[in-house]
Amino acid sequence: MKGRKLLMIPGPIEFEPEVLHAMGRATTSHVAPDFIETFGTCIELMREVWRSPLGQPCIVAGTGTLAMDMAAANLVEKDDRVLVISTGYFGKRYKDIMDRYGAKTTIFEAPIGETVDLDAIENELKTNTYKALTLTHVDTSTGVRVDPEPIAKLAQKYNCLSILDGVCSVAGEEINQDDWGIDVILTGSQKAIGVPPGLALLVASEKAMQVWENRKTSVGSYYSDWNNWLPIMKAYEERRPSYFGTPPVNLIVALEISLKIIQKEGMETRVRRHRELARAFRAGLAALKFDFLPKSNEISANTLTAAYYPEGVDGSALLAKLSKDGVILAGGLLPELKKSYFRIGHMGSVSSNDLIAVLSSLERSLIELGHPVKPGEGLQAFQKDLLKLSVTHSKITG
Ligand code: PMP
Repeated sequence: MKGRKLLMIPGPIEFEPEVLHAMGRATTSHVAPDFIETFGTCIELMREVWRSPLGQPCIVAGTGTLAMDMAAANLVEKDDRVLVISTGYFGKRYKDIMDRYGAKTTIFEAPIGETVDLDAIENELKTNTYKALTLTHVDTSTGVRVDPEPIAKLAQKYNCLSILDGVCSVAGEEINQDDWGIDVILTGSQKAIGVPPGLALLVASEKAMQVWENRKTSVGSYYSDWNNWLPIMKAYEERRPSYFGTPPVNLIVALEISLKIIQKEGMETRVRRHRELARAFRAGLAALKFDFLPKSNEISANTLTAAYYPEGVDGSALLAKLSKDGVILAGGLLPELKKSYFRIGHMGSVSSNDLIAVLSSLERSLIELGHPVKPGEGLQAFQKDLLKLSVTHSKITG
């Protein structure tokens, strides 16, 4: 038996071996010429992944929450109005962060498994003047995917900054920061970017940088203040040594490797792989009679799936059985439904074989728990869905 389990939670994910090897390399100086080159390359590659040739990338030690905090700390001042568009747990977290910086927040919360109505957003932006709005591309608590483009366009129409929490989407879902006119897209390293936890990453638009430069008050967080970080990002990009806080050298070496893997695959192909695997996986689970939190395929994430436990199945017993079988899945996150659903991450270097392992282990575990499913039912639906796609592709390409 392999000495390790298959990690299929929505982050941290399974990392590529080359990325993990980078973590074990001898740590170099943060001002060594080869590290300066690595950092500079990461900044350039982030612009490609975010599709933001004009944006200002920022790489700091921290988690996705720090990236959320950094956007709020730099762009929002006391008494600014902020509209929080929430599709779950992480939407609400953004309200807490904005409140901490003294913003006057209004939160529009979608019912569980749904998105917020666009007309309601437009009405609100028309009626009140907002400095910024926040939205979560994929809320990891519900598996709901929001289409950021129309919301970003509304934000532009009403002269309001848009901040996208892309922690569970960047490098897995389609993103076009400049075309869509999004002011900040942020993430953490441990998800589809494919690097162990510990990096807060964001790209800010030119407009966001102008708004920050025109602040009337100083930034309320010393660590997050772009006054401290912008010169560092510029220096690394110009291949000059600099220092504010010691960068997590090995993580950044790993980031360069992962970004190059992403670049080699190409964002279009990568997004399609995520979409096709997610769709086939949902078909497999549906054949096993699982219901999903998102109300439709159109708003289902391609980076993770959130599904209810079947009636009569003890969720913790099911997850324990899977873990014993070598497959680690995540429980529910929404406090009100925590015990009724679970989540499977499928992002980054995920393959069809990983998902086959999950489905077959799920089938066996359900049967062992006395739940009536036929062995192979979920797998068959998964295979059929994938084959349908590959037949279509070969017709197109051949
Ligand atoms: N936003 C979303 C959508 C997330 O999924 C997460 C992490 N699960 C976060 C924010 C917070 O990121 P971190 O745990 O890295 O602080």
